[in-house]
Amino acid sequence: MPHQPDHTGSDVTGPVDLVVMNGRLVTPEGVYPGGLSVREGAVADILRPDEHPPAHRVIDAAGRYILPGLIDSHVHFRTPGLTHKEDWAHGSRAAAVGGITTVIDMPNTMPPLFDPADAHAKAAEIAGTSLVDFCFHLGVDEARPELLTDVTPREAVSAKVFMAGHHTAPHVIRSPDALTRVFATAAAVGIRLVLHAEDDAVFALLDGWSGPAREYRDYESRRPRTGGIVAVAKVIELVRRHGTAAHVLHVSSAEEVDLLSAAAHAGLPVTFEVTPHHLSFTAADTARLGARIRLSPAIRQEADQRRLWAAVRNGGVTTIGSDHAPHTRTEKSRPVSEAPPGLPGVQELLPAVFTGLRRHFPHDPVDRQLSRLADLVAAAPAALFGIAGRKGRLAPGLDADFVLLDPSATWMMRAEDVAAKCGWSAYEGWTMTGRVELTVRRGEVIWDHEHRTFGTPSGQWLHASPSLHPSSPTTAAVRGELSAD
Ligand SMILES: [Zn+2]
Repeated sequence: MPHQPDHTGSDVTGPVDLVVMNGRLVTPEGVYPGGLSVREGAVADILRPDEHPPAHRVIDAAGRYILPGLIDSHVHFRTPGLTHKEDWAHGSRAAAVGGITTVIDMPNTMPPLFDPADAHAKAAEIAGTSLVDFCFHLGVDEARPELLTDVTPREAVSAKVFMAGHHTAPHVIRSPDALTRVFATAAAVGIRLVLHAEDDAVFALLDGWSGPAREYRDYESRRPRTGGIVAVAKVIELVRRHGTAAHVLHVSSAEEVDLLSAAAHAGLPVTFEVTPHHLSFTAADTARLGARIRLSPAIRQEADQRRLWAAVRNGGVTTIGSDHAPHTRTEKSRPVSEAPPGLPGVQELLPAVFTGLRRHFPHDPVDRQLSRLADLVAAAPAALFGIAGRKGRLAPGLDADFVLLDPSATWMMRAEDVAAKCGWSAYEGWTMTGRVELTVRRGEVIWDHEHRTFGTPSGQWLHASPSLHPSSPTTAAVRGELSAD
């Protein structure tokens, strides 16, 4: 197999740094026996079972799967300004324990990441604290949409639009004119939109009619699927009109899955994400778990969950993102109407989804289920967000990011195992199937389960590539049009 580790430029003779052998290599296309070799942080070669090149270190992966390092394209690591909830030291450790080697962070911090210059300041603040590599989503400031035309993939891989808000997401685009302008601008400059697609006006109507939720079991009925359905219908119409690439986040209801699947089938550039928590909990769990699973969008009914699982298993869903959005125990203990939505999830993503796949589809081959995960949580987010040149697959020349997974280990999620700063998990007491034994980022072990040790916090800010081509009119023309009103 050809190998050209193009960013090493070093002597490529002699022993490689690391060989992993006797494993099962997971790709979106299938699972193959073999291993891989690593030189200077990149995959040097994919190895057949009988290939054993000389190496400084050898790992025997017998009985283990070798997955590509996972990419969580939806985390809130809360820097700057909200670091009492989470920070990059804790958040990136939680990622490493969960087999995630790259995260893409959301912009609703304090202050938010609105201006491309904010990205450089944020990267400087993170430097030296993250175990995992990272890039950013840009926030959209309704008052300054022209900032969208200034951003490059270096600063942000997409622009995030909140169509409904909450405590830590106050910057909602409510005006239809502003929303139209954002879709038109994003299409013109070739940036993908990622959307919290719930309709704020629908929720305002319901609150005005029946008041805010007083008990946790009221929450789903006060933040119902109609908010999501109305917003998704608007998104589809705007995509149809402007050709904007749109990725709808944390889709929660069967109706939204159907609408978005139909729109994609009709050729529109729409994709969508689901979260582990919408796959793991239903509204019936709310009475027991209270604020821990108060989420935005709300946790829905069993029939919705079945539809989400079908889209994960059979296609439809493009990415699974954790929406890791921790709050402190104290914040979550506030009265029902004030407890902020969100939960930690970057550590739980892989075990929760793999466990769910085994429970819901016990007769499916493990190989096929892991292949699907290698697409949903590695190859697909890498392609969608412009980092496929380095991340998302096990291939020569790409970064040596991989995970050793023991598929048959079972274990219980406990509060003391939570690496996130908040120290709690909605999955406490769950029996999980499949354990991450080793997480490797650019050839370095960043999590070793046996010894409970982490690597060095040398995570890099990634240079993404444009994942879309700007259409006409030109960026300059759009900027002129925007500054005119
Ligand atoms: Zn989020």
